[in-house]
Amino acid sequence: IVVDNLRKAYGSKEKQTTAIDNVSIEILDNEFVSIVGPSGCGKSTLLRILAGLDEATGGTATVDDTLIDRPGADRGMVFQSYTLFPWLTVEENIQFGLKIKGIPKKQANEIVDRYLDIIKLKPFRKSYPKELSGGMKQRVAIARALANSPKVLLMDEPFGALDSQTKSEMQLLMRQIWQVEKPTVVFITHDIEEAVFLSTRIYVMSGRPSGIKANIPIYLPYR
Ligand code: ADP
Ligand code: ADP
Repeated sequence: IVVDNLRKAYGSKEKQTTAIDNVSIEILDNEFVSIVGPSGCGKSTLLRILAGLDEATGGTATVDDTLIDRPGADRGMVFQSYTLFPWLTVEENIQFGLKIKGIPKKQANEIVDRYLDIIKLKPFRKSYPKELSGGMKQRVAIARALANSPKVLLMDEPFGALDSQTKSEMQLLMRQIWQVEKPTVVFITHDIEEAVFLSTRIYVMSGRPSGIKANIPIYLPYR
């Protein structure tokens, strides 16, 4: 991912809010990069632009040299609010993108089985989201995103709504998933401990109203 001098302003010309300005980052394959910073500094705005859900006011963002201008299967998303399809079972949720892509049923089932195993929810394959706890729902959301083999997994405060015990379990699971599957991850959090636990590298966005003066990469060489 290459983000070059990205800027996003909301509102009209008369009354503008600059959500992000002068953001430049580079993320390599298989990195787990966290973006930390105080509330309101523009983390979600940056991720929404990377997801193609929001349009930048200036600058560019690319994945594998392709300009991001819409959502795409090359980028998996996990939000704080789970966003599972409530009318689909756990396995149907995970299978959703594979069906759209036209992956043959047998192969899709194998992928679903593998991810159900990873997220330890095999006994819940026929359950509906409303029957699951918050942590379980988020595990399904992660499996659904990864099942599509995206180039990048974009995660916006994915564990922010969970109690502290479940949050710790999810952090451990996420670290295991990264160690085994090595997905490229962009992870938004305001929890610096979580970022240090999970990441290979961290970007710090400075808070408003100063705007983003610099992104300071923190290297965690022991990974
Ligand atoms: P963070 O995720 O770091 O908390 P956000 O990206 O949500 O920050 O917000 C950055 C800034 O942009 C904030 O000042 C916020 O109020 C503003 N902002 C975000 N979304 C909108 C919007 N849809 N309309 C107007 N202002 C917005
Ligand atoms: P949360 O705080 O994540 O919402 P809950 O209090 O809903 O958690 O659930 C606590 C634990 O109970 C879960 O981690 C899970 O192991 C178990 N659990 C929750 N819902 C169900 C269910 N429908 N069937 C079986 N076990 C469940």
